[in-house]
Amino acid sequence: MGPAANSGKETLLARKTMVEEQIAARGVKDRRILDAFLEVPRHRFVEEYLKYKAYEDYPLSIGYGQTISQPYMVALMTEALAPKPTDRILEIGTGSGYQAAILSRLCARVFSIERIAALASRARKTLDELGYFNVSIRIGDGTLGWPTEAPFDGIIVTAGAPRVPEALLSQLVEGGRLVIPVGETGIQDLKRYTVSRDGVREESLGGCRFVRLIGKDGWQE
Ligand code: SAM
Repeated sequence: MGPAANSGKETLLARKTMVEEQIAARGVKDRRILDAFLEVPRHRFVEEYLKYKAYEDYPLSIGYGQTISQPYMVALMTEALAPKPTDRILEIGTGSGYQAAILSRLCARVFSIERIAALASRARKTLDELGYFNVSIRIGDGTLGWPTEAPFDGIIVTAGAPRVPEALLSQLVEGGRLVIPVGETGIQDLKRYTVSRDGVREESLGGCRFVRLIGKDGWQE
């Protein structure tokens, strides 16, 4: 997308290219997920001076030392979460609101927690402007989950955790999925935990790199 690319036609073309070359070409094939990426205007979730890079194949700064993740990473985590139209999903790390917007197209309700108030209110404004009203945002420490809205069908953590916060696993329904990067600062393993009657199944989905999950059951500030 060029610097002047703000017309609807140009951004739609940029989204099509992003979906084909960065997401579908790397193996994400679920039509509902690809359609959500075609629908959500990613350039609305980045600051004005970065809009011309909104559809590029990398993360971008959203201020406060935080980032909007690379489109492919958002797609990979969304696929791993496998949201169904009736699902209630919890996201930890609202950031720009982009991942929440994608999820809002794929499930019934999205609950999202962000620890930085300024990011939470900017995300709220963007989501309201776009009419994505099935997203609820709360300011707080997401490592504790959202007990009053639990249980959830899926939980997605978009910051790197030193370990799996216990509260999150306990707030999932049977069959619920937790997608979370776990590891050291600067390099983590993307994990999916699936809760069943017999226990919790753990899968590794590959390496990733996220900003730190800071909180009571995360990294210390
Ligand atoms: N999902 C976001 C998006 O689509 O733009 C990207 C999130 S960014 C990679 C990680 C976010 O997690 C940051 O906004 C950061 O402030 C937030 N964060 C870190 N620790 C947190 C915690 N304990 N609770 C809630 N948010 C947290």
